[in-house]
Amino acid sequence: MTYSGFRVIREALRGDLGWGPAWRDADPKDHYDVVIVGGGGHGLATAHYLASRYGVTNVAVIEKGWIGGGNVGRNTTIIRSNYLLDGNEPFYEMSLKLWEGLEQDINYNAMVSQRGIINLIHSDAQRDAFIRRGNAMILNGADAELLDEAAMRREYPWLNYEDARFPIKGGLAQRRGGTVRHDAVAWGYARAADRRGVDIIQNCEVTGFRTKNGNCLGVDTSRGFIGAGKVGVAVAGNSSRVMALAGMRLPIESHVLQAFVTEGLKPILPGVITFGAGHFYVSQSDKGGLVFGGDIDGYNSYAQRGNLPVVEDVCEGGMAIMPMIGRARLLRMWGGIMDMSMDGSPIIDRTHIDGLYLNAGWCYGGFKATPASGLAFAHLLATNAPHDTAKAYRLNRFETGHMIDEKGMGNQPNLH
Ligand SMILES: Cc1cc2nc3c(=O)[nH]c(=O)nc-3n(C[C@H](O)[C@H](O)[C@H](O)COP(=O)(O)OP(=O)(O)OC[C@H]3O[C@@H](n4cnc5c(N)ncnc54)[C@H](O)[C@@H]3O)c2cc1C
Repeated sequence: MTYSGFRVIREALRGDLGWGPAWRDADPKDHYDVVIVGGGGHGLATAHYLASRYGVTNVAVIEKGWIGGGNVGRNTTIIRSNYLLDGNEPFYEMSLKLWEGLEQDINYNAMVSQRGIINLIHSDAQRDAFIRRGNAMILNGADAELLDEAAMRREYPWLNYEDARFPIKGGLAQRRGGTVRHDAVAWGYARAADRRGVDIIQNCEVTGFRTKNGNCLGVDTSRGFIGAGKVGVAVAGNSSRVMALAGMRLPIESHVLQAFVTEGLKPILPGVITFGAGHFYVSQSDKGGLVFGGDIDGYNSYAQRGNLPVVEDVCEGGMAIMPMIGRARLLRMWGGIMDMSMDGSPIIDRTHIDGLYLNAGWCYGGFKATPASGLAFAHLLATNAPHDTAKAYRLNRFETGHMIDEKGMGNQPNLH
């Protein structure tokens, strides 16, 4: 069924009785050309691009829970491509371009909203660093705009400019950045992949990999063995746990990150803003809630829930730039598990086992990468060669020292 305005009107007139399920509830077959482990945004996008761009349709996506139950449905929905390093910027810019055409591509309203993102500047040194980053973005075909304090005051008059511990001196804006409704991305990719014949198998946990003479033959699951020509793993916060089943120890730590939503407020925040002297980022949802987040909880965990000390820390960040946020009541909060790599950049690569491929290490920033990650992983699975924009995301860079240390923090996942 193709979604269209006409269809919406037609269904509205007949009690919405004509809608079918958005994707089939498939039973596992004995064998697939490609099995993707993890039905998050990256796994589903990979399946969609494998089928739509590379003609590989004998594909299964295996999800231990339900579609949208992982980080793809837990993040703060921010998309952007404001990176500095060559290893990253072309990849994230490709992702932003894919977001721009996504809804037409998958015939699904994912509420892609290019409302703009502004990183606040609080010191002269930070302005210099942001100018450098803005120039790197422009050189890679992205958009960037430096705002002085007067421009900031025009756009966001209610931010705390006077009397502030960290005065706001300007901002680095990317107007094409913004937000996307996160779970709609999972549903949209799932539906688009299913329409091309991909089996989406929920409530099916991968419990092991079968290998013979260094080749991956398939996966053991809670619903039996599923044979595969190739297996791609995209399980985000569970990467280290799942790859341990194949005998691999990854340069990844799992950490909790929380997100928060206030009660609905009148429109106040036209775009996304991020605090530059602490960790706080905020946007306003179409329902009026302020959606915000900050630092990770700071200890390793696989539990999808957070703790109170970080709530205080994040709210302090919010109060520092917009004190009136203290009047808003917090409605909901939740946690997700981040796969924090040692340099803060992702991994899209083959492994030492033939036929076993890895997509991991997305840290805080994997949602905006969803389309590019799916396309690059599909390219790798289909051709055995890395996509042009993902050539730096090799697993062995942690052995050879070719880190993509965007933040310049070194081997400290808690700082990325
Ligand atoms: C609170 C929070 C806020 C965030 N904010 C942003 C943001 O604003 N912008 C941004 O770009 N990024 C953000 N991120 C990061 C982003 O959400 C993640 O990097 C990205 O969603 C991870 O990829 P995914 O969607 O494929 O992961 P997931 O949705 O987590 O998918 C992985 C799936 O693998 C499944 N799985 C695990 N183990 C197995 C197994 N053994 N067998 C089968 N299936 C298995 C899981 O159930 C899960 O559904 C945020 C994350 C969190 C938690």
